[in-house]
Amino acid sequence: MTKHIFVTGGVTSSLGKGIIASSIAKLLQARGLRVTIQKFDPYINVDPGTLNPYEHGECYVTDDGAETDLDLGHYERFLGINTSQANNVTTGRIYQSVIDKERKGEYLGKTVQVIPHITDEIKRRMLLLGKTGNYDFIITELGGTVGDIESLPYIESVRQLKWELGPTNSLVVHLTLIPYLSAAGELKTKPTQHSVKELSKNGISPDILVCRTEHSLSSEIKLKIARFCNVEKRAVIEARDAESIYDVPILMKNEKIDEIILQQMRISSFKNPELSSWEGFLKRLKNPTRKVNIGLIGKYIELKDAYKSIQEAFVHGSVNNDCKANIVSIHSESIKASNVAELFANLDGILVAPGFGNRGIEGKIEAIKYVRENNIPFLGICLGMQCAVVEFARNVLNFEDAHSTEMDPETSFPVIDLMDEQKSITTKGGTMRLGSYECKLQKGSKIKKAYKKETIFERHRHRYEFNNEFKDRFNEAGLITTGINTESGLVEAVELKKHPWFVAVQFHPEFRSRVTTAHPLFSGLISAAIKHKLEAKTSKKELK
Ligand code: GLN
Repeated sequence: MTKHIFVTGGVTSSLGKGIIASSIAKLLQARGLRVTIQKFDPYINVDPGTLNPYEHGECYVTDDGAETDLDLGHYERFLGINTSQANNVTTGRIYQSVIDKERKGEYLGKTVQVIPHITDEIKRRMLLLGKTGNYDFIITELGGTVGDIESLPYIESVRQLKWELGPTNSLVVHLTLIPYLSAAGELKTKPTQHSVKELSKNGISPDILVCRTEHSLSSEIKLKIARFCNVEKRAVIEARDAESIYDVPILMKNEKIDEIILQQMRISSFKNPELSSWEGFLKRLKNPTRKVNIGLIGKYIELKDAYKSIQEAFVHGSVNNDCKANIVSIHSESIKASNVAELFANLDGILVAPGFGNRGIEGKIEAIKYVRENNIPFLGICLGMQCAVVEFARNVLNFEDAHSTEMDPETSFPVIDLMDEQKSITTKGGTMRLGSYECKLQKGSKIKKAYKKETIFERHRHRYEFNNEFKDRFNEAGLITTGINTESGLVEAVELKKHPWFVAVQFHPEFRSRVTTAHPLFSGLISAAIKHKLEAKTSKKELK
């Protein structure tokens, strides 16, 4: 029977519930158990696809084209698994199913209510992945903080499930904060006590408390928390602030969280966690032998979470090169022809990020012109590729007002345009080209060398496409179309023939980068940046 672990959060948001859930999952997986994680979000949007990144951070995309919460990115990266739409459910989706059923008359004249109808639908979805028989453990992370009005139906569903499944098949991990008051020189347990009390009011007493803290928890503090919160002392887990999110599974292992879980679930015969490749990754992460500076050009840089998967893919890609990549975020609106040389003076590589709409677009194009002309390693992703195509069209092909029709519907050179099937779509939610598509890479190209294979599968999230009407002109002039969608013939990747590393892709490689298997395009950009830095040094010396 599949066992369920529910992860709730108290005191405040942003405590890193996703990382704790992923770390617990990692430890169980490392013991040979089959594990997946799902997230239930209390907001009313059907999915986060329609949310501005400033609201909720990056929108993560799965193979099956689900637009999901960014925590699914952590789940996939930590576990090396692929999740799907079933792994992310929102209140909007729950209500949509219940209302659809009501309209079909399936409630047979009953009054449809939060309890039992909404909670039944939540419970059904919480158990769904377990029905496949593919998992020993399902970890369910509840978005939001205990005490929020919109979280109540989820908490009630967990209460019912805990009762239905029984104590050896389910448990609740509650993540809280133990703040340190520097004026008093003390760690404070009261917010945790209140948060556990809030859970108890709703009929749930947590089995394990994971306590975020800046300082070590003494045995006395652990005992105090245990006594007032009704948990075993060893189930009060210290979660110290870590240098890297990838340290957290090891910190959790040292606190024996996995052993406590297995004991409560009466699982005795499982081997010790096998984490050697994870530990190997951490060793390389902490001992880089070189350093590069990479510019990340985007328009949501004020919020770190807006480019979460890109940031993490850079970590994996640089560790793969035994390198530390210092990511310098640059707002695309700040880049002008007059300051680009100065802004990029210390950068060894540039990534132009995905995005939507006109704001900052000319800065992105200016950045690409500069890296093209100055042989600086470059990776363009989605809108980043579209800007590379526009830049080349304007400045090399001399298509003066070339643009994407997303930005300028009247352009005389629509080098990036909507496909016919997109033209008739009027609603925004879930209607882009989404999810995994097959792409064939051209022999002899840089991208093919990076992937070391001819056929790849990558995830998409965009409406606009390279306009094949202009394909020959680009190829003749040296921006070659090196990745082609096997089914539709759409261009998925371009690169400059005469440039050390200028690769731009319509898909999102960042969604497929994993901790111990770095993505070839990120690894490729870092390795080109290392080379560029070395060459720049040598040529400086020669000039002297
Ligand atoms: N705005 C562009 C499009 O819709 C690019 C999207 C993206 O970068 N994800 O095609």
